[in-house]
Amino acid sequence: MSAAEFAYLNGRVVPWDDARVHVFAPVAKYGIGVFEGLRGYWNEEAQQLYLFRVAEHLERYAFSQRAMRFDQPMFSDDLTEALVRLCRANAFRTTVHIRMMAFIDGPGELGATGPVGTAITALPRATAKQSIEGASAQISSWMRMPDNVMPARIKCNANYHNARLAIMQAQLDGYDVAFLLNSRGKLAEAPAMCVFIVRDNRLITPSGTNDILESITRQTVIQLAREYLGLDTVERDVDRTELILAQEVFYCGTGAEITPVTSVDRIVVGNGEPGAITRQLMEIYRAIVTGKNAAYASWRTPVF
Ligand code: PMP
Repeated sequence: MSAAEFAYLNGRVVPWDDARVHVFAPVAKYGIGVFEGLRGYWNEEAQQLYLFRVAEHLERYAFSQRAMRFDQPMFSDDLTEALVRLCRANAFRTTVHIRMMAFIDGPGELGATGPVGTAITALPRATAKQSIEGASAQISSWMRMPDNVMPARIKCNANYHNARLAIMQAQLDGYDVAFLLNSRGKLAEAPAMCVFIVRDNRLITPSGTNDILESITRQTVIQLAREYLGLDTVERDVDRTELILAQEVFYCGTGAEITPVTSVDRIVVGNGEPGAITRQLMEIYRAIVTGKNAAYASWRTPVF
Protein backbone atom coordinates (compact mmCIF):
# COMPACT_ATOMS: atom_id res chain seq x y z
CA MET A 1 0.00 0.00 0.00
CA SER A 2 1.48 3.31 -1.09
CA ALA A 3 1.31 6.48 1.00
CA ALA A 4 -0.60 8.06 -1.89
CA GLU A 5 -3.96 6.88 -3.16
CA PHE A 6 -3.61 8.28 -6.66
CA ALA A 7 -1.00 8.79 -9.38
CA TYR A 8 -1.27 10.52 -12.75
CA LEU A 9 -0.74 8.72 -16.03
CA ASN A 10 -1.26 10.06 -19.55
CA GLY A 11 -3.88 12.65 -18.79
CA ARG A 12 -5.75 10.86 -16.02
CA VAL A 13 -5.61 10.64 -12.25
CA VAL A 14 -5.67 6.89 -11.59
CA PRO A 15 -5.49 4.60 -8.53
CA TRP A 16 -1.82 4.19 -7.53
CA ASP A 17 -1.64 0.53 -8.54
CA ASP A 18 -3.01 1.27 -12.02
CA ALA A 19 -0.10 3.53 -13.03
CA ARG A 20 1.72 0.86 -15.06
CA VAL A 21 3.98 0.58 -18.11
CA HIS A 22 4.70 -2.55 -20.17
CA VAL A 23 8.06 -4.33 -19.58
CA PHE A 24 8.84 -4.11 -23.29
CA ALA A 25 8.58 -0.29 -23.37
CA PRO A 26 11.92 1.46 -24.09
CA VAL A 27 11.71 3.08 -20.64
CA ALA A 28 11.85 -0.38 -19.08
CA LYS A 29 14.37 -1.85 -21.52
CA TYR A 30 16.82 1.05 -21.71
CA GLY A 31 15.67 3.53 -19.07
CA ILE A 32 14.65 6.04 -21.76
CA GLY A 33 12.96 8.69 -19.69
CA VAL A 34 13.52 12.12 -18.22
CA PHE A 35 12.10 13.46 -14.99
CA GLU A 36 11.76 16.34 -12.58
CA GLY A 37 11.58 16.32 -8.80
CA LEU A 38 9.60 19.06 -7.08
CA ARG A 39 8.47 19.67 -3.54
CA GLY A 40 5.16 20.83 -2.17
CA TYR A 41 5.39 22.48 1.26
CA TRP A 42 2.52 22.33 3.71
CA ASN A 43 1.80 25.53 5.61
CA GLU A 44 -0.33 24.60 8.63
CA GLU A 45 -1.29 28.16 9.47
CA ALA A 46 -2.49 28.96 5.96
CA GLN A 47 -3.86 25.39 5.49
CA GLN A 48 -2.12 25.49 2.14
CA LEU A 49 0.21 23.29 0.13
CA TYR A 50 2.66 25.36 -1.92
CA LEU A 51 4.43 23.79 -4.91
CA PHE A 52 7.88 25.35 -5.22
CA ARG A 53 9.11 26.89 -8.50
CA VAL A 54 6.84 24.93 -10.83
CA ALA A 55 7.63 27.15 -13.84
CA GLU A 56 11.38 26.55 -13.55
CA HIS A 57 10.91 22.79 -13.15
CA LEU A 58 8.62 22.67 -16.20
CA GLU A 59 11.14 24.62 -18.24
CA ARG A 60 13.94 22.17 -17.38
CA TYR A 61 11.59 19.23 -17.99
CA ALA A 62 10.90 20.51 -21.51
CA PHE A 63 14.63 21.08 -22.10
CA SER A 64 15.44 17.51 -20.97
CA GLN A 65 12.92 16.12 -23.47
CA ARG A 66 14.24 18.30 -26.29
CA ALA A 67 17.84 17.28 -25.59
CA MET A 68 16.81 13.59 -25.69
CA ARG A 69 14.89 14.15 -28.96
CA PHE A 70 11.53 13.09 -27.53
CA ASP A 71 8.39 13.52 -29.68
CA GLN A 72 5.46 15.53 -28.38
CA PRO A 73 3.80 13.78 -25.41
CA MET A 74 0.76 11.61 -26.20
CA PHE A 75 -1.37 13.97 -24.10
CA SER A 76 -0.23 17.58 -24.05
CA ASP A 77 -1.89 18.45 -20.76
CA ASP A 78 -1.42 21.60 -18.79
CA LEU A 79 1.11 20.11 -16.37
CA THR A 80 0.68 22.74 -13.65
CA GLU A 81 -2.99 21.87 -13.63
CA ALA A 82 -2.13 18.14 -13.53
CA LEU A 83 0.19 18.66 -10.51
CA VAL A 84 -2.51 20.54 -8.64
CA ARG A 85 -5.17 18.00 -9.58
CA LEU A 86 -3.05 15.09 -8.32
CA CYS A 87 -2.23 16.77 -4.99
CA ARG A 88 -5.88 17.66 -4.49
CA ALA A 89 -7.01 14.10 -5.27
CA ASN A 90 -4.59 12.77 -2.65
CA ALA A 91 -5.77 15.47 -0.20
CA PHE A 92 -2.21 15.93 1.07
CA ARG A 93 -1.88 17.97 4.24
CA THR A 94 1.82 17.43 4.62
CA THR A 95 5.04 18.21 2.75
CA VAL A 96 5.39 16.10 -0.39
CA HIS A 97 7.95 15.19 -3.03
CA ILE A 98 6.60 15.07 -6.56
CA ARG A 99 8.13 13.20 -9.44
CA MET A 100 7.16 14.07 -13.00
CA MET A 101 8.30 11.69 -15.73
CA ALA A 102 8.27 11.72 -19.53
CA PHE A 103 9.11 8.30 -20.91
CA ILE A 104 9.24 6.37 -24.15
CA ASP A 105 6.35 3.95 -24.22
CA GLY A 106 5.29 1.56 -26.99
CA PRO A 107 7.26 -1.24 -28.67
CA GLY A 108 10.26 0.80 -29.90
CA GLU A 109 13.97 0.15 -29.70
CA LEU A 110 16.95 2.26 -28.65
CA GLY A 111 16.32 4.96 -31.26
CA ALA A 112 12.61 5.37 -30.46
CA THR A 113 11.51 8.96 -29.86
CA GLY A 114 7.89 8.17 -28.97
CA PRO A 115 5.17 7.63 -28.04
CA VAL A 116 5.92 9.80 -25.03
CA GLY A 117 4.02 8.97 -21.87
CA THR A 118 3.64 11.28 -18.87
CA ALA A 119 3.46 10.12 -15.27
CA ILE A 120 3.35 12.05 -12.01
CA THR A 121 3.60 10.70 -8.51
CA ALA A 122 3.52 12.59 -5.22
CA LEU A 123 4.40 11.12 -1.84
CA PRO A 124 4.81 12.60 1.64
CA ARG A 125 8.47 13.33 2.33
CA ALA A 126 9.86 15.03 5.40
CA THR A 127 13.20 16.78 5.67
CA ALA A 128 16.10 14.29 5.83
CA LYS A 129 17.76 13.78 9.22
CA GLN A 130 21.15 14.80 7.77
CA SER A 131 19.69 18.19 7.03
CA ILE A 132 19.24 18.71 10.77
CA GLU A 133 22.32 16.90 12.10
CA GLY A 134 24.79 17.44 9.26
CA ALA A 135 26.15 14.90 6.77
CA SER A 136 29.44 13.10 6.29
CA ALA A 137 30.75 13.22 2.71
CA GLN A 138 33.10 10.93 0.83
CA ILE A 139 34.99 12.08 -2.26
CA SER A 140 33.88 9.33 -4.60
CA SER A 141 36.20 7.23 -6.70
CA TRP A 142 33.45 7.46 -9.32
CA MET A 143 33.85 10.41 -11.66
CA ARG A 144 30.85 12.61 -12.58
CA MET A 145 30.17 11.84 -16.22
CA PRO A 146 31.28 14.65 -18.55
CA ASP A 147 28.62 16.51 -20.52
CA ASN A 148 29.92 15.04 -23.79
CA VAL A 149 29.45 11.50 -22.43
CA MET A 150 25.99 11.98 -20.92
CA PRO A 151 24.23 15.34 -20.86
CA ALA A 152 24.93 16.46 -17.29
CA ARG A 153 22.61 19.45 -17.63
CA ILE A 154 19.44 17.40 -17.98
CA LYS A 155 17.61 14.89 -15.83
CA CYS A 156 17.57 11.75 -17.97
CA ASN A 157 17.15 8.50 -16.05
CA ALA A 158 20.41 6.96 -17.24
CA ASN A 159 22.50 9.74 -15.61
CA TYR A 160 21.42 8.39 -12.27
CA HIS A 161 23.36 5.16 -12.67
CA ASN A 162 26.50 7.24 -12.26
CA ALA A 163 24.98 8.78 -9.13
CA ARG A 164 23.77 5.41 -7.86
CA LEU A 165 27.22 3.84 -7.98
CA ALA A 166 28.65 6.76 -6.02
CA ILE A 167 25.85 6.69 -3.41
CA MET A 168 26.20 2.95 -2.93
CA GLN A 169 29.96 3.18 -2.50
CA ALA A 170 29.62 6.03 0.02
CA GLN A 171 26.95 4.26 2.06
CA LEU A 172 28.79 0.94 2.11
CA ASP A 173 31.86 2.82 3.33
CA GLY A 174 29.82 4.41 6.14
CA TYR A 175 29.27 7.94 4.76
CA ASP A 176 26.01 9.81 4.19
CA VAL A 177 26.79 11.28 0.81
CA ALA A 178 29.21 11.16 -2.15
CA PHE A 179 30.92 14.15 -3.76
CA LEU A 180 31.89 13.50 -7.36
CA LEU A 181 34.82 15.16 -9.10
CA ASN A 182 34.65 15.73 -12.85
CA SER A 183 37.01 14.62 -15.61
CA ARG A 184 39.30 17.59 -14.83
CA GLY A 185 39.50 16.56 -11.16
CA LYS A 186 37.40 19.53 -10.02
CA LEU A 187 34.36 19.27 -7.76
CA ALA A 188 31.17 18.65 -9.76
CA GLU A 189 28.26 17.77 -7.50
CA ALA A 190 26.71 15.17 -5.22
CA PRO A 191 24.04 12.71 -6.41
CA ALA A 192 21.00 14.95 -6.96
CA MET A 193 22.59 17.84 -5.11
CA CYS A 194 24.82 20.83 -5.81
CA VAL A 195 27.63 21.75 -3.43
CA PHE A 196 28.63 25.09 -1.88
CA ILE A 197 31.58 25.97 0.29
CA VAL A 198 32.17 29.04 2.44
CA ARG A 199 35.67 30.56 2.48
CA ASP A 200 36.51 33.96 3.96
CA ASN A 201 32.77 34.49 4.46
CA ARG A 202 32.15 34.11 0.74
CA LEU A 203 30.02 31.48 -0.95
CA ILE A 204 31.70 29.48 -3.69
CA THR A 205 30.10 26.84 -5.91
CA PRO A 206 31.22 24.94 -9.03
CA SER A 207 30.30 26.94 -12.14
CA GLY A 208 27.77 25.70 -14.69
CA THR A 209 30.50 24.23 -16.92
CA ASN A 210 31.68 21.72 -14.31
CA ASP A 211 29.29 18.95 -15.42
CA ILE A 212 26.60 19.91 -12.93
CA LEU A 213 22.85 19.99 -13.26
CA GLU A 214 21.73 23.62 -13.38
CA SER A 215 19.96 23.25 -10.08
CA ILE A 216 16.94 25.35 -9.18
CA THR A 217 17.82 25.20 -5.48
CA ARG A 218 21.38 26.33 -6.25
CA GLN A 219 20.00 29.36 -8.08
CA THR A 220 17.54 29.99 -5.21
CA VAL A 221 20.37 29.84 -2.65
CA ILE A 222 22.49 32.27 -4.69
CA GLN A 223 19.57 34.72 -4.86
CA LEU A 224 18.55 34.42 -1.17
CA ALA A 225 22.17 34.69 0.04
CA ARG A 226 22.58 37.94 -1.87
CA GLU A 227 19.26 39.39 -0.83
CA TYR A 228 19.06 38.35 2.83
CA LEU A 229 22.68 37.91 3.92
CA GLY A 230 24.40 40.35 1.54
CA LEU A 231 26.63 37.48 0.37
CA ASP A 232 27.66 37.11 -3.25
CA THR A 233 28.45 33.69 -4.67
CA VAL A 234 31.54 33.03 -6.77
CA GLU A 235 30.89 30.41 -9.46
CA ARG A 236 34.21 28.82 -10.41
CA ASP A 237 36.25 25.60 -10.38
CA VAL A 238 36.54 24.12 -6.88
CA ASP A 239 39.50 21.91 -5.90
CA ARG A 240 38.99 18.93 -3.60
CA THR A 241 41.35 20.33 -0.95
CA GLU A 242 39.15 23.45 -0.73
CA LEU A 243 36.52 21.21 0.84
CA ILE A 244 38.93 20.75 3.74
CA LEU A 245 40.00 24.39 3.89
CA ALA A 246 36.41 25.63 3.87
CA GLN A 247 34.78 27.13 6.98
CA GLU A 248 31.51 25.57 5.92
CA VAL A 249 30.29 23.09 3.32
CA PHE A 250 26.71 22.34 2.39
CA TYR A 251 24.77 20.73 -0.41
CA CYS A 252 21.37 21.59 -1.78
CA GLY A 253 18.65 20.26 -4.03
CA THR A 254 14.90 19.91 -4.15
CA GLY A 255 14.92 16.64 -2.21
CA ALA A 256 17.89 17.40 0.06
CA GLU A 257 16.87 21.06 0.61
CA ILE A 258 19.93 22.65 2.28
CA THR A 259 22.07 20.17 4.20
CA PRO A 260 25.21 21.04 6.16
CA VAL A 261 28.26 18.82 5.66
CA THR A 262 30.26 18.33 8.84
CA SER A 263 33.08 16.16 7.51
CA VAL A 264 34.71 15.31 4.18
CA ASP A 265 36.66 12.05 3.95
CA ARG A 266 36.43 11.98 7.79
CA ILE A 267 38.23 15.32 8.06
CA VAL A 268 36.10 17.65 10.14
CA VAL A 269 34.74 20.77 8.41
CA GLY A 270 35.08 23.91 10.58
CA ASN A 271 34.25 22.95 14.16
CA GLY A 272 32.26 19.88 13.09
CA GLU A 273 28.88 21.57 13.61
CA PRO A 274 26.54 22.94 10.92
CA GLY A 275 27.97 26.36 10.05
CA ALA A 276 26.39 29.72 10.88
CA ILE A 277 25.91 30.84 7.26
CA THR A 278 24.48 27.46 6.31
CA ARG A 279 22.03 27.62 9.20
CA GLN A 280 20.91 31.12 8.25
CA LEU A 281 20.36 30.01 4.66
CA MET A 282 18.38 26.97 5.83
CA GLU A 283 16.12 29.23 7.88
CA ILE A 284 15.50 31.72 5.06
CA TYR A 285 14.95 28.93 2.56
CA ARG A 286 12.38 27.23 4.80
CA ALA A 287 10.50 30.48 5.38
CA ILE A 288 10.31 31.14 1.63
CA VAL A 289 9.33 27.63 0.48
CA THR A 290 6.59 27.31 3.10
CA GLY A 291 5.28 30.82 2.41
CA LYS A 292 5.87 31.90 6.04
CA ASN A 293 7.89 34.66 4.43
CA ALA A 294 5.55 36.19 1.85
CA ALA A 295 8.38 37.31 -0.48
CA TYR A 296 8.78 35.63 -3.89
CA ALA A 297 5.07 34.74 -4.07
CA SER A 298 5.51 33.87 -7.76
CA TRP A 299 7.72 30.93 -6.71
CA ARG A 300 4.80 29.25 -4.90
CA THR A 301 1.81 27.62 -6.59
CA PRO A 302 -1.03 27.05 -4.10
CA VAL A 303 -2.83 23.70 -4.42
CA PHE A 304 -5.97 24.38 -2.38
N1 PMP B 1 22.09 17.57 -9.52
C1 PMP B 1 21.37 16.52 -9.95
C2 PMP B 1 22.02 15.51 -10.81
C3 PMP B 1 20.03 16.40 -9.59
O1 PMP B 1 19.31 15.36 -10.00
C4 PMP B 1 19.43 17.38 -8.76
C5 PMP B 1 18.01 17.23 -8.33
N2 PMP B 1 17.13 17.74 -9.31
C6 PMP B 1 20.22 18.48 -8.37
C7 PMP B 1 21.54 18.54 -8.75
C8 PMP B 1 19.59 19.60 -7.62
O2 PMP B 1 18.72 20.27 -8.51
P1 PMP B 1 17.42 21.00 -8.03
O3 PMP B 1 17.86 22.02 -7.05
O4 PMP B 1 16.88 21.66 -9.27
O5 PMP B 1 16.52 20.01 -7.45
